Amino acid sequence: MKLNIIILTVIIISTVCCGKKNDSSIDKPILIRIPKNQINEEFIEKYKFIPDHVHDDRYAFGYITYSESGEFSTTEIAIVDPNSIHYQLDPKNLAYKKNDIDPDEIQEGYHDYNQLTNKLETIAATNPNLTSLESAGKSVENRELWYLRINNKEKNLLSKPKTLYIANMHGDEVVGRELSLKLIESLINDYPINPRIRNLVDHSDIFIMPSMNPDGFENRSRFNKNYKDLNRNFPDFVADPKDSQDNREPETQAIMRLHDEHHFLLTINFHGGALCFNLPWDTIANKISQKFADDKIISELAREYATTNIPMSKVNGGSFDRGVTYGYEWYEINGSMQDWSNFYRGSIHGTVELSRVKWPPAYQLEQFWQNNRESMIHFLERGSIGAHLAIKSIEGQLIQDRPIQISSGGRQLVYKTPLIHRPLPLNKQQITVEVPGFISKTFVTEGENFKGYYKDIILTPKMRYTDLTHKERSNIFN
Ligand SMILES: [Zn+2]
Repeated sequence: MKLNIIILTVIIISTVCCGKKNDSSIDKPILIRIPKNQINEEFIEKYKFIPDHVHDDRYAFGYITYSESGEFSTTEIAIVDPNSIHYQLDPKNLAYKKNDIDPDEIQEGYHDYNQLTNKLETIAATNPNLTSLESAGKSVENRELWYLRINNKEKNLLSKPKTLYIANMHGDEVVGRELSLKLIESLINDYPINPRIRNLVDHSDIFIMPSMNPDGFENRSRFNKNYKDLNRNFPDFVADPKDSQDNREPETQAIMRLHDEHHFLLTINFHGGALCFNLPWDTIANKISQKFADDKIISELAREYATTNIPMSKVNGGSFDRGVTYGYEWYEINGSMQDWSNFYRGSIHGTVELSRVKWPPAYQLEQFWQNNRESMIHFLERGSIGAHLAIKSIEGQLIQDRPIQISSGGRQLVYKTPLIHRPLPLNKQQITVEVPGFISKTFVTEGENFKGYYKDIILTPKMRYTDLTHKERSNIFN
């Protein structure tokens, strides 16, 4: 049986039900690497083991949620994150024991939920023309899933491309949370003095969510408060192909709603524990063609991100090529946010791993910011320098209430709005616009030299019988 289908038959009852709480029992799941042949029903039952993913022919990853001192008998089981802030692996008897580190010390220099909230509220209050603070919903423990929206309200473009950064989806991966704040401050503070930033902000609608899992951060846990891994909780077009919010975690539902409300052109979700740009797919796309339809553009974006992040650009070996890897080549997972948003919401969404250590000391944050600043800003810019199309009739009216199909770069997307944004590769791109009742149009965008390609696309209605498709002709007589 496929390993990750066994998932969650064992709910985390942990120390509570077993009544054997002692110093080395585990009250939070710990990620381990384990030889596949050691996972059987007895092991799963004994350690309340939750499989996560198959790594290669030999190893799998999963979570130990209960253990007693001295129970592990093999040296082949390894804790994955040696910097886990709650437990460390005792190399002598392979039991977990509690770390002596004071959690408050760990958090020093990081913004906790209240500080984060205050900071975002202050920024929004002092920059009302550029920002607004909104919430996508609430976490299990009722914390707001804040995002700061940066959009110059005085700059009235017909519509602007929407770009989204989400960080801290895994509560103990915290670098992205702080870099989100640094990015927000940088965009706001540089706006009046830096033409490049002003151009970006004037031509974009930027959403930055510093924490998708505020409960996990407060509890120093990867999971949300229901011990669910949010990056395994989204509809998966292979393993769980039902694009529905039913039975998903509140944090997952909030992000799904946010995507229903807004079409995001470009998105990154930021993690920690490695250093790379992770490309779709995360799941092995054995039911559709292997490559993501927008592979060409996202590969270009990933290469640019990794190149301007010097430490990332040096990551090679295994599936990594200068800091870039396909998710499924690194390790396959099901239910990732990236795959869902690419497959079901027509976005271009990648995953960035920002730091090998998930929760580094706060004095290192400035260096992480320096490593990522250019990459983060440039990625946002690639949204604003794309094609921005207004689909109109010959009377000059926007064509409303009809599905508009855009084919470009090997991907077909259907929009409910006549105001359309597509990122452009650096070379030529052919775009075809098809709307029922109108003669379709194909045109080529040339290298636009890092300026947005703004164009009204005027479509002629089909007046002659010979213009109609076979289906349209038969509809006339029905
Ligand atoms: Zn993560």
